[in-house]
Amino acid sequence: MPHIDDETLALCALGEDVLGPAEHVHLEDCTDCARTVRSLTRVVDGARDTEHPDMVPPRPEVWSRIHTELGLTEAPAVLAPTPASGPAPDAEEGADQTGAAEPAHPDELASRRRLRAWVPVLVAACAALVLGVAGGVLWERSALQPEETTIASAVLDPLPDWAGVSGEAMLQESADGSRQVVVSVDGPAPEGTYREVWLLTPDASGLVSLGALEGAEGRFAVPEGLDLADYPVVDVSEEHFDGDPAHSGNSVVRGELAT
Ligand SMILES: [Zn+2]
Repeated sequence: MPHIDDETLALCALGEDVLGPAEHVHLEDCTDCARTVRSLTRVVDGARDTEHPDMVPPRPEVWSRIHTELGLTEAPAVLAPTPASGPAPDAEEGADQTGAAEPAHPDELASRRRLRAWVPVLVAACAALVLGVAGGVLWERSALQPEETTIASAVLDPLPDWAGVSGEAMLQESADGSRQVVVSVDGPAPEGTYREVWLLTPDASGLVSLGALEGAEGRFAVPEGLDLADYPVVDVSEEHFDGDPAHSGNSVVRGELAT
């Protein structure tokens, strides 16, 4: 037999006994249909479980948009279908397969049709709910990963040979405790040179290289364990492509980090 239609699967997920014998057999064997019921059931269970930590109720305008799009005139509060009373032999889908199913009582058929009219609403509601949940989870993730906190900053003043160049530095800390220095320098490096960022001791007797500054701004990881109380000075030097890893002695801008 072909797959069970979505409406019937949605009713299954709601706990309605709407399957004929042949459909019962199909659902047991068909992974596609079973998967659809499982995922709809998860949504339905989630919707019923108000304690669900990820559950975010859709905003009222979502409901009214669904309502408008479906051209419904009744209030959207009538979403919960009435539970079926007793076993419901499915005359609509079951009879032609088995030939043995008893026709459903007319009242029952009428109530099933009414229920069926709500299925598009349920499916739309499920979709809105899934979007709401996804949005909530994304929001929660971004809330759990706050941006870096700036814990100190420095104005980088030019050294005498570099009047007119200026810069600034920020010491930032990520949630995991790692530290970065963000350095920006105004004014291009002369051709054939590049700039390198350093942390210096206050008397410039000790220094640690953080790396080459590409362009006007760069972010540099501070080596773990480096005590910034010992190396509080941010220095940007002009370097030549001479293969010498040491500081050129030609500092462009410099400033001390302060909280
Ligand atoms: Zn199927």
